[in-house]
Amino acid sequence: MDEKKTERAAQKLAAAKTAFKREAMLSGYSSFKIGGPADLAVFPADAGELKNAFRILKEEGIPLFIAGRGSNLLFDDAGFRGAVVFTTGIDRCSVSGTRLTAGCGCTMTAAARRARDSGLSGLEFAYGIPGTVGGGVFMNAGAYGGQISDVFAGGTAINPVSGETVALEKEDMDFSYRHSSLARRGLVVVEAVFELQRGDRREIAARMNDFQSRRKEKQPLEYPSAGSVFKRPAPDVYVGKMIDDAGLKGTRVGGAEVSEKHAGFIVNRGGATSRDVRELIGIVQDRLESEFGIRPECEILTVPEIPEK
Ligand SMILES: Cc1cc2nc3c(=O)[nH]c(=O)nc-3n(C[C@H](O)[C@H](O)[C@H](O)COP(=O)(O)OP(=O)(O)OC[C@H]3O[C@@H](n4cnc5c(N)ncnc54)[C@H](O)[C@@H]3O)c2cc1C
Repeated sequence: MDEKKTERAAQKLAAAKTAFKREAMLSGYSSFKIGGPADLAVFPADAGELKNAFRILKEEGIPLFIAGRGSNLLFDDAGFRGAVVFTTGIDRCSVSGTRLTAGCGCTMTAAARRARDSGLSGLEFAYGIPGTVGGGVFMNAGAYGGQISDVFAGGTAINPVSGETVALEKEDMDFSYRHSSLARRGLVVVEAVFELQRGDRREIAARMNDFQSRRKEKQPLEYPSAGSVFKRPAPDVYVGKMIDDAGLKGTRVGGAEVSEKHAGFIVNRGGATSRDVRELIGIVQDRLESEFGIRPECEILTVPEIPEK
């Protein structure tokens, strides 16, 4: 990146009192603990700062990537030439009747807790998913039979290029398995509204605790990862089982390892690079293709984007 552009953007962000860091190591902002430096990491505190940051980056012609908690991302070892805008400061959450409105940076777990505390059911599945509401809507995140599209009732987004604020309508979201229309539309979620149902607080809490203990039991939460690496090729086809059946558990490239505990996860056993992870992904895909005739597509996203083979 042009150093002068970065410097000017940094000055403008400082004048607007928006938090940022230069040469920020992305490994510090990724659940995988992988990633080199970004020219800029920007941390807007609210929707106004987010919009203003987009304007500044556009004025200076700086490429941008929007991230929540970086829990579905593989940042490159070389980092990102441009600005990564993290939404985690935009985390207000409120309840009115049976509707919960959450800022894009509110964690899914915090939103689920807030719903529980208000006696509202529908977000239990989101408890323990380590991402934000914005990332969850983008990915149509889901677990234990629930997904964002079940409860999404609308929201607000910004087009970072035009600066325009857009109302999100459910029918335009094209939700499907780990997919929404947001990537195609180039929109950044600012807040989302979830329509929930009244329920018994204790029963809601019990479901959340059950999901959490199942996570702890099945998932290698003791190591950095980005969750399930691959999408399910079909609703009842589990890639983790195929990887296990192919005898790939424990396969390592550098510091990256196919988890012994849950074969659908690749974990960082220490010092893993994005190159290690990509190589390991390739080994798994090649093997599943030759053994089962299925080449699973990645659920985790590489930043900058590297098209899959
Ligand atoms: C241990 C572990 C367990 C997991 N379990 C699950 C699970 O059960 N179910 C599941 O679905 N996922 C799971 N994940 C994956 C991940 O948590 C989800 O995909 C989550 O929704 C990502 O949210 P994030 O805020 O971290 O997004 P990021 O990883 O930061 O970004 C993911 C994508 O969302 C986009 N994005 C982020 N914020 C916005 C926004 N405001 N507007 C528009 N686009 C945005 C980014 O540009 C990127 O393309 C797991 C991950 C880990 C590490």
